[in-house]
Amino acid sequence: MIQSLIEDGLNRSWWALKLSAPLEAKYHAEVAPAAGWYLQSWLLVFIAFNILSLKVDLDAFGAEAIAVPAGLTLGVFVPLALAAILVLRGRPSTRRQTLAVLATSLVDMAIVLNSARIVPLGHADTYLILAAVVPLVVGMIAPMPFRHSLWFCGSAFALYVLAVLGLDLSGPNGLGVPLLVASLILVPLKLAYSREWETKRSFLLGLREKAQSAALAEANARLTILSETDPLTGVANRRLFTQRLEWAWELAFVRRDWFSVLLIDIDRFKLLNDSAGHAAGDGCLVRIAEALRGPVEDAGGLVARYGGEEFVAFLPRATREAAVAAAETLRRAVIDLALPHPGLAQPGPGLVTISIGVATAHGAERLRGLGASELLKAADEALYAAKHRGRNRVEAAQPAALDERHAASERAAAPGALAPGCVVSIAPRGRAA
Ligand code: GH3
Ligand code: MG
Ligand code: MG
Repeated sequence: MIQSLIEDGLNRSWWALKLSAPLEAKYHAEVAPAAGWYLQSWLLVFIAFNILSLKVDLDAFGAEAIAVPAGLTLGVFVPLALAAILVLRGRPSTRRQTLAVLATSLVDMAIVLNSARIVPLGHADTYLILAAVVPLVVGMIAPMPFRHSLWFCGSAFALYVLAVLGLDLSGPNGLGVPLLVASLILVPLKLAYSREWETKRSFLLGLREKAQSAALAEANARLTILSETDPLTGVANRRLFTQRLEWAWELAFVRRDWFSVLLIDIDRFKLLNDSAGHAAGDGCLVRIAEALRGPVEDAGGLVARYGGEEFVAFLPRATREAAVAAAETLRRAVIDLALPHPGLAQPGPGLVTISIGVATAHGAERLRGLGASELLKAADEALYAAKHRGRNRVEAAQPAALDERHAASERAAAPGALAPGCVVSIAPRGRAA
């Protein structure tokens, strides 16, 4: 919703200064008014300008009559401008800024217009021009919102015109020139309008950029999840698993800790598909993935769909005994699901079961060249043994490092040699299918 408001705001016409209510509120909350020091420094320039203008007073009034304009400048304007500087400490609100600027400008204008009234003949025009220059310059410098600028320029214009008309300051040449000069007071209005329009535009562009990057980050996060998750079961996919397995095995090396890998395969799954249908097979994969996930993640490991009806998991810090016990828990958890396997109904209860191959190694074995792929290979061999020995069971294997395999295969070439990757079987605890 906010996105469409932003677009509407960016496409609004030049004459539409106000944004929609929620954006206008956000704009006022987020776009901070200019710091006070900005106006404070200009007020100092303003004071210096007024003190310099005493020379103009001296030339126009002469030494004998300068007391009134000089007294008003030094006794009224300067203390007021100093008070305004004090009021603008820190981060004053825009309203306070406008009030401070309005008060000093109007008082200064009144002093100058008074000088135009009392100055000897021939000098009034100079003061009339000066009286218009004050709000013109201040109105351009002060960063007022357009609404405040309307008040500022309107009051200054009214004061000027009322003084010219009421005090009859037009002189012998008529009202034309004073009124033309008065119109200059309205110039800052255009500037304030454009400034506010542009500030709001940059604010909206900033919002749009933020919204776009948030949407992009969300899409990226979704994409990452998609690229790392198995779409059917919701567990990690093989890609993520392979990456995490490398990291976890490296951590086991750093910590000099035990580490186990489990390869899990659903028994007689093809038969399940054939007897119960592919959809039932899919449902079975989902239920089994759910059953595996909890215990493995509770043990600090990760379970993933390795492909087809095979899952894989790693268990950090798991010794062979702990890993076999965990695998047994998983095997029983699947039996407890009581997923019917019509293809195995006769004889036995006909439930879906899994076989698990376990491979355990100590992190220090990385030094011997034992890598994550050797762990997977050993787990695969153990799984093969589990299938071979009747399914629905857990088997554990001793992974052999590459250099050992190499040596073993050389020994195998010699007569009477031992087979590499010796498989250690665990006593079957479940029913073989
Ligand atoms: P074993 O006990 O030796 O593991 O026998 P099996 O039938 O489970 O093994 P096999 O490798 O012969 O069959 C695996 C079957 O898994 C074949 C394939 O159709 C099925 N399969 C693979 N992926 C999916 C899937 O996403 N959904 C379903 N429903 N079946 C799948
Ligand atoms: Mg299978
Ligand atoms: Mg298989």
